[in-house]
Amino acid sequence: MAAALRAGLIGSGFMGRAHAIAMHSVGPTFGAEYQIECVLLADTSPASAQRAAESLGFARSTGDWRELVADPHIDLVDICTPNHLHAEMALAALIAGKHVYCEKPLALDLAQSIALAEAAERSGVRHAIGFNYICNPMVQVARQIIQAGELGEIVAFHGRYIEDYMGDPRAPYTWRCQRRLAGSGALADLGSHLINMTHFLLGPVARVCGTVKTVHRQRAEPVSGAQRPVENDDMAWALVELASGVGGTFDVSRIATGFKCGLAMQVHGTRGTLTFDQERMNELRLYRADDAEGRRGFRTILAGPEHPDYAAFCPAPGHGLGINDLKVIEIRNVVRAIRTGEQAVPDFAEGLRVQRVMTAIEQSAAQGGWLRVDEVTV
Ligand code: NAD
Repeated sequence: MAAALRAGLIGSGFMGRAHAIAMHSVGPTFGAEYQIECVLLADTSPASAQRAAESLGFARSTGDWRELVADPHIDLVDICTPNHLHAEMALAALIAGKHVYCEKPLALDLAQSIALAEAAERSGVRHAIGFNYICNPMVQVARQIIQAGELGEIVAFHGRYIEDYMGDPRAPYTWRCQRRLAGSGALADLGSHLINMTHFLLGPVARVCGTVKTVHRQRAEPVSGAQRPVENDDMAWALVELASGVGGTFDVSRIATGFKCGLAMQVHGTRGTLTFDQERMNELRLYRADDAEGRRGFRTILAGPEHPDYAAFCPAPGHGLGINDLKVIEIRNVVRAIRTGEQAVPDFAEGLRVQRVMTAIEQSAAQGGWLRVDEVTV
């Protein structure tokens, strides 16, 4: 059996922690061939990196991410830092010949995303991006149902990803409010997942008619309390046409009071409809128009071991997976791609396709009217 894959993790915040938990779990969950050795963790200073390495189970630590990228004992560089660092770190890792696994969005903007996706394509190593929600067994089932034609011909969809993490006007100013650190706002943070899920379930987006809005235009610095202008969107919407001709809508917000992880998709076909909501991530709701008259209605399918990847976690139906389990599935996919040499799904090319749609929504909002995704400019 192949030796465990040796990983280096950059960043130990919300996502760094989730990736570390998943790296420790993937071998026990999916089998020894997916085992990861947690070798080295980098953060902004030697002290913070050492603290994080100790608590997250990494053997060594460094305050300099370049040291991690150059380390000959690392096979896979995992990037969990704020958006503006993705391109520089991923490019350095590709040049060093490492496999790269990077959190979403791929980079800060379209120009960076093109450069990064092209470098990844040329590199010959495996590259993957953290669009974890499509790893959900119920989202995989939704795709099977759609592709098997069980809904008939698809005629429309409605997708939303709304949260309220910045709903309170007093929520502090963070890196997520700054163009040069985050890129776009809710659109990059949440919309990127929604666009990826749309691609996964229904195929590529062809054109959009978008609009973006910043509601809370100033926020207070957490330490000084000084007011600073918010430089990106709180909300984004778009009318959407897919390459298949199917029409639909996107609704994205980081100020949707009451919604905590409202990533939801509704797909209408001539013979049925399905709906999914990440806040009820172990359920899929399905309506079949050909059920007997008087017996029609939405049924709820609970996640269980007969669905993709569920049984690796739990032999009993309806007991449910959680968000960190999606990361375990995602990391299994990364290791599998490295072991087999196949392209990871989703990879940097998908990160770029998602970025093109986000850019199209922003450019359409700026100029007014419909814009084809293949006509966006850097
Ligand atoms: P965070 O602020 O919680 O953590 C960022 C980490 O990066 C911190 O540990 C910070 O110290 C470290 N860091 C910053 N600069 C660094 C540098 N120069 N060198 C080394 N480490 C550095 O942020 P987060 O919420 O974990 O977000 C990180 C990334 O993950 C973002 O790109 C975000 O979009 C993405 N994210 C993805 C999901 C998802 O569902 N897939 C969820 C949340 C965040």
